[in-house]
Amino acid sequence: MTYLRLPRLFCGRLVLSNPPKLANDCFALPPGVHWTPVDETLERLREGLTVVTGIEPVPTVTAGGRVLAAAIHANRSNPPYANSAVDGYGFAHASLGDGAQTLPLVDGRSAAGGPYRGVVPAGAAIRILTGAMIPSGVDTIVLEEDVSLGDGTVSFQSGLKKGANARPVGEDVEMGGEIFTAGHKLRPQDLALLSATGVDIVSVHKPLRVGILSTGDELRQIGDPIEPHQIYDANRPMLLDLIRHWGMTAVDLGHINDDAEKVSEALNKSAETTDVILTTGGASAGDEDHISAALRAAGALNLWRIAIKPGRPLALGLWNGTPVFGLPGNPVAAFVCTLIFARPALLEMSGAGWHTPRALTLPAAFSKNKKPGRREYLRARINSDGHAEVFKSEGSGRISGLSWADGLVELADEGRVINEGDPVRYYPFSEFGI
Ligand code: AMP
Ligand code: MG
Repeated sequence: MTYLRLPRLFCGRLVLSNPPKLANDCFALPPGVHWTPVDETLERLREGLTVVTGIEPVPTVTAGGRVLAAAIHANRSNPPYANSAVDGYGFAHASLGDGAQTLPLVDGRSAAGGPYRGVVPAGAAIRILTGAMIPSGVDTIVLEEDVSLGDGTVSFQSGLKKGANARPVGEDVEMGGEIFTAGHKLRPQDLALLSATGVDIVSVHKPLRVGILSTGDELRQIGDPIEPHQIYDANRPMLLDLIRHWGMTAVDLGHINDDAEKVSEALNKSAETTDVILTTGGASAGDEDHISAALRAAGALNLWRIAIKPGRPLALGLWNGTPVFGLPGNPVAAFVCTLIFARPALLEMSGAGWHTPRALTLPAAFSKNKKPGRREYLRARINSDGHAEVFKSEGSGRISGLSWADGLVELADEGRVINEGDPVRYYPFSEFGI
C-alpha cells in the first residue's frame, strides 16, 4: 500500500466554499510501522488533513474569533489623513527662526471631526487638537504645555524638529496594504484594525463542527443517578469546553455503551451533522474497545500506537467521509492527546492552519530518571522561583493534576536524567488555547 499525499490546501490557501471530503487513506500508516513517534504522527496528520470548512461573509463587528478565509487588504490608510498627535499649535517648520518664536494665530482652529479648511500662511500658527486633520500650510505642532499665549499670538522656544507631533497619512498602514493573511483567527484588537482601515465585511471559514462522543458501560452523565460501580463521564464536558475555547462548534453526541452496533449507529448519525468526531474510550484493541471494532468493521480503522505517555493507541478513521479521532478513555490521556494531536489537526481542518505550540525553557524544580522510547508530558506549573514543578503523581487516573497544572512539561523521546535546575521544555496551557 502506498501512502498518498493529499494536496495541502493550507499552504496554497486554496479555500473552497464546499471543500471535498477527505480521502480514505488520510490516516494510513506505511506497512510495518508499530510505534510511531509523536513528531512523525504530527507530520502525518499535517500532511493527510485538509481544510473541510466552507466560507461565508461576516460583518467585521461580529467576526471576533473567526478564521479568515482570505488575506485582507486595507480599504483605507491609517491614519487616513495627516493629523495631530497632541493638543497644541501648528505651523510650517520653515517659518521658524532661531531662539524664542512668536507667531500670529489665524482665526479658527482644527479639531477632530472639525477640520480647518483654509490655508495657514507661512509665519502664522493655528490652534490644533489631538486627532485633528493638519491644515494646509502646517507640518509641525508644538505642545500646548510648551507655549505661552499673547493677544492673538503664540510664543515658544524653537528647537522642534520638522514634523514634530504630526502623524503622517498612512504611517501605520497604507491603503491597499495587506493587514492579515488567510488563516488568521481574529482577536479583539484585530477588529480595531479592520474597522480603522475600513474593512466592514470579512470572508471567514464556517466554524468547524466537532462532535464529542463518550463510550463506556461504566459511564453516567453528571447529574444522573449513579451506582457504586459506575463513574461520571468526565471527558465529555472537558472536550466540549476545549472545543468551545478553540472557537469551534462543539456538538454534544452524548454517551453510548460498549456495543458495536450502537457505536455504528451513533457514528452514522453524527457523521451527517459534524465535520469531525472525537470519541473517548474503547479505542484500544481489547474486548470492549468498540470504537476500534466499529471502525475496523467498516474497513476504516487505522490504529496508531504512538510513543507518548500518557496515551494509549489513537484510533483514526474516516466514517462516511468524516474523520474520527478515537482518543483514550482515561481523562488525563484524553486531555493530553487532544492537546497534542487533535488540536493542530482540528485547526488545520478549520482553515486556521497547522499550529505548533511554543515552549518556554525553564529550570526543572524536580528530578526524574526518564526512560527512553516514549515522549512524556507531565502536568506542570511554574513555581514562585520561575521553575517548572510537576504534579506529585504521574498516575494517569489523577484527574486533579490537570486542574492543579497550568501547563505541561515535555520530555523528549530519548532517555534522560533530569536533576533540579536542568532546563526543561514547558508549554503553558495558553499555547493550547486554554
Ligand atoms: P478505555 O479507553 O475505554 O479502556 O478507558 C480507560 C479508562 O478511562 C477506564 O478506567 C475508563 O473507565 C476511563 N474512562 C473512559 N471514558 C471515560 C470518561 N468519559 N470519563 C471518565 N473516565 C473514563
Ligand atoms: Mg471503555
